[in-house]
Formats: sequence, structure tokens, C-alpha cells
Amino acid sequence: MRTITVHASQEYDIYIENGILDACGTILKEATKAQKTAVITDDTVDALYSARVTESLEAAGFEVFKFVFPHGEPSKCSATLNQIYDFLCENSITRTDCLVALGGGVVGDITGFAAATFLRGMDFVQIPTTLLAQVDSSVGGKTAIDLPGGKNLVGAFKQPVCVICDPETLRTLPAEIFSDGMGEVIKYGMIRDAALFDQIAAHDQESITAILEDVIAACISIKRDVVEADEFDTGERMILNFGHTLGHAIESYYHYETYSHGSAVAAGMCMMAAKTCTPEVTERLKKCVQAYNLPTEVPVEMKELVPLCGKDKKRAASQLRFIVCKTIGRAEIHTMPFDSFSLWMEA
Ligand code: NAD
Ligand code: MG
Repeated sequence: MRTITVHASQEYDIYIENGILDACGTILKEATKAQKTAVITDDTVDALYSARVTESLEAAGFEVFKFVFPHGEPSKCSATLNQIYDFLCENSITRTDCLVALGGGVVGDITGFAAATFLRGMDFVQIPTTLLAQVDSSVGGKTAIDLPGGKNLVGAFKQPVCVICDPETLRTLPAEIFSDGMGEVIKYGMIRDAALFDQIAAHDQESITAILEDVIAACISIKRDVVEADEFDTGERMILNFGHTLGHAIESYYHYETYSHGSAVAAGMCMMAAKTCTPEVTERLKKCVQAYNLPTEVPVEMKELVPLCGKDKKRAASQLRFIVCKTIGRAEIHTMPFDSFSLWMEA
């Protein structure tokens, strides 16, 4: 088992091991004083993993309640959140109990936000079951729900009491959802870790399974380091956004329907590399992206995408901050007036 400790405002451990799901009860017993746990999950993950988690929690002496909502991003909303609050009230869950987020980023984000707000805050544990959730959303303490006005507009920083990461659960992931997570995995290599990039680039969607525990641990370590340096996202945490300025623009151009987040980020990274890297670096990145069935570009003109860049909550006034990796393994934060960015990208 690999253990990665996060020294944030609350210190906690991330445990990574194939099959660790069956030990979640014993692990959680160490991390919380709770007697009761409420497992929050979606219908797909419920059918696959709830029974094992419940069994492990009960064997460790927890009383277990369960709330299941329909899978998918539309569930990450205030209506589901209110149902969760009602469910917690109906089952007399108190401040000293613990929520269990079992699922992908949608489950993790909404459960984390419920834990941050219900009774002004209670313990929660992340048990991420998608690649994206294991390497990204379950680490770092950002929780949120979406509003009709945009994604992640209401949220809180709330660190879990621990994260229990079982790479074996990824075996049931549909191929395109696995690829989606690989977009972020490749990003970690690009921004911080040339050796990790080499490792990923030497494999493809099929063969990477053999080294997944190592790869996931490497990604989590990078996210941990960045989060420790900037827990509340006021500076360095921004480097995690490599590929995301164009990526968000792509997602938004297609109304979040055509390209998944990881696909859009992959294309965004390649398009940014084409502007800032040597042809050799750009080619290596593109090859790697293709090996995981992700796109290297999108059929839209830059002048259509640029106006959509930075239209999220991270754009400060007329200045745009974006991330450049001139070489593999090193990211820089660049700031430019939005108008200059437009001219430069469209040139
Ligand atoms: P998701 O939670 O919707 O999961 C994707 C799909 O996979 C769902 O249909 C789910 O039911 C299914 N699934 C999950 N685990 C499975 C398994 N083991 N086997 C088979 N199917 C499984 O989406 P996601 O990609 O995990 O996460 C996306 C969300 O994460 C977005 O809402 C995004 O905003 C959020 N996010 C948050 C952070 C953060 O720092 N908090 C970071 C990145 C992304
Ligand atoms: Mg992302």
C-alpha cells in the first residue's frame, strides 16, 4: 500500500492499493470518531461497489445509511443537495457522523459540499472510483455544486478525513471515461514530472493498466505538493490549469456535449504547446495524447475559441492568466492583457 500524507489546513492520508475497497471500514475507523456513516453514491457505482463498501463499514462497527442519486453531471445540483440534506435529517445524522463519497468527481464534489455545510461541517471520506476522481477531484479539498448559471459556482474548501483509492475499481470504467481521466494524468507529467511523462508515453490505453498504481500515486503526489503550497487557490495551484484555458473554451463552444473535460484539456494542451514549444515537444505530447484516444485539436477556428477563454471564475478583469509548459515537466504562469492574448493566439 502506498500512503501519501497531505499537510493542508487539515492533515490527512491518501491510501492507494488494489483491492483496498474491502478495507475501507478499518481505515475509516482510524480516521473518524463517527459511529454512523452515510454512503452517498450514484446508481452506476451503487450497483458495482456499494455492497463491498457497506460490508466493510459494518464489519468495522459502523452503522451504515445510503443515499443513491442518478449518475451524471446534471445531478451535481441544488436539488440533489437538498435531497441529501433531507436524507441526513431523516436518518438523524449528526455533526459527529461521517459521510462517505463513493464514486466519481460528481459524487465527491457534492458529498464534500454537503459535508462542508450540513450542521456547519462534518467528517467525510473520499472513495474515488474514476481515474479523474483518483488523480484529481478527490485530492485538494475543493467541493462544489453547479448552478444553472455555470459549473462549480457554489462550493467550499473542505478536506476529507482520508482518501481511499482502489485502482482496481477502474477496471469497470467505460473506455472513454478512462481516457477522459488520462487527459489530466498527461497534464501532471507535462507540468511537473518528465519521468512520469516518459512512463505514460511508453504505454497506451491498454498497457498502462500494469503500472496504474504507480502512475496514480505519482499524480496524487504532484497534486498534493501543489495543494500544500496553495491550498486556497490564490497562486501556484493555477499550474494545474495547463490546457484548461483553451479546454474550457472548447467545452463551452460545444455546450459541454461533444468533448468531455479530459478530451478538451488534451486538445487544449496540444494547441497551447503548438504556440509555445519546440516542434519535437509538441509532437511527443500529441503522440501521447493519441495513445490514449484523446484529440490533439478540434475543428474550430481559434478566433471562435479565444473569446470563450477565461470566461470562468478564474479570469481577473481584463488580464488573462494561463499556463505554458515550454518543456516537458515544467509549467509557468503567464499573465497577459486579454486583447494581446487574442492577437497572439489568432496569429
Ligand atoms: P462522474 O462522477 O460523473 O463519473 C463519470 C461516470 O462514471 C458516471 O456515470 C459514473 O457513474 C461512472 N462511474 C464512476 N465510477 C465507475 C466505475 N468504477 N466503474 C464504472 N462506472 C463508473 O465524473 P468524473 O469524471 O469522475 O468527475 C467529473 C466531476 O469532477 C465534474 O463535476 C468536475 O467539476 C469535478 N471535478 C472536481 C475537481 C475538484 O478539485 N473538486 C477537480 C476536477 C473535476
Ligand atoms: Mg481539469
